[in-house]
Amino acid sequence: MENKRYSIAIDGPSGAGKSTIARAAAKELNFVYVDTGAIYRTVGCQARRLGADPCDAEAVAALLPGLDITMAYGDDGLQRMYLNGEDVTEEIRLPEVSMYASRVSAVPAVRAFLLEMQRDMARKHSVIMDGRDIGTVVLPDADLKIFLTASPEDRARRRYEELVKRGTPQDFDTLLKEIRERDYNDSHRAAAPLRPAEDAVLLDTSGNTFPQSRDQILTIIRERLGL
Ligand code: C5P
Repeated sequence: MENKRYSIAIDGPSGAGKSTIARAAAKELNFVYVDTGAIYRTVGCQARRLGADPCDAEAVAALLPGLDITMAYGDDGLQRMYLNGEDVTEEIRLPEVSMYASRVSAVPAVRAFLLEMQRDMARKHSVIMDGRDIGTVVLPDADLKIFLTASPEDRARRRYEELVKRGTPQDFDTLLKEIRERDYNDSHRAAAPLRPAEDAVLLDTSGNTFPQSRDQILTIIRERLGL
């Protein structure tokens, strides 16, 4: 008999630590970690490269037929993204690409285009998939849904510390303002707005250290799935 495949959906606002926590939990459980934000970023990357207006839904939709997005996992477990065969894993993290990703992700045609790709990953592997609409739209039948959040101040502080570490510090109040704006945009857009699925477990990581959050999520997963 084939082993059961599990799917765990993790949604939440940007900066809540979803990707770091989800990646660590997936490693521990030997599941595939799918960062869906990276897929939207790859679409944003193409729009930026071709000079398409990311707010123009028709212009963005016109890019889709020429877009081949694939992903692969390195020995380090990191998800690498390929745009028409070219590795764009680093390029998609540029701040300008974040802005493009945020805009193109509001285009319904983009969401429809990426839906099957995400579902296909969950059909083939046991996954922890993180995003904004995984529990509500992409995997409504996921074995477990977690809505991971933290206060805006906490998320801005983490981002602030990350940028200081990278040697590119930014003003804390500006970061806080940006986080609030992104929250507003993500939760008020018409297409797949950010909201917890009705059956999601809420996990607020405010004030936690990373090991505390990782252990909390692993405890929830093991208890709920009996692993
Ligand atoms: O999570 P990350 O910041 O990498 O996501 C990049 C952008 O893609 C975000 O602005 C977010 O709104 C969008 N996104 C989305 N749906 C997902 C994952 C990300 O709309 N499932």
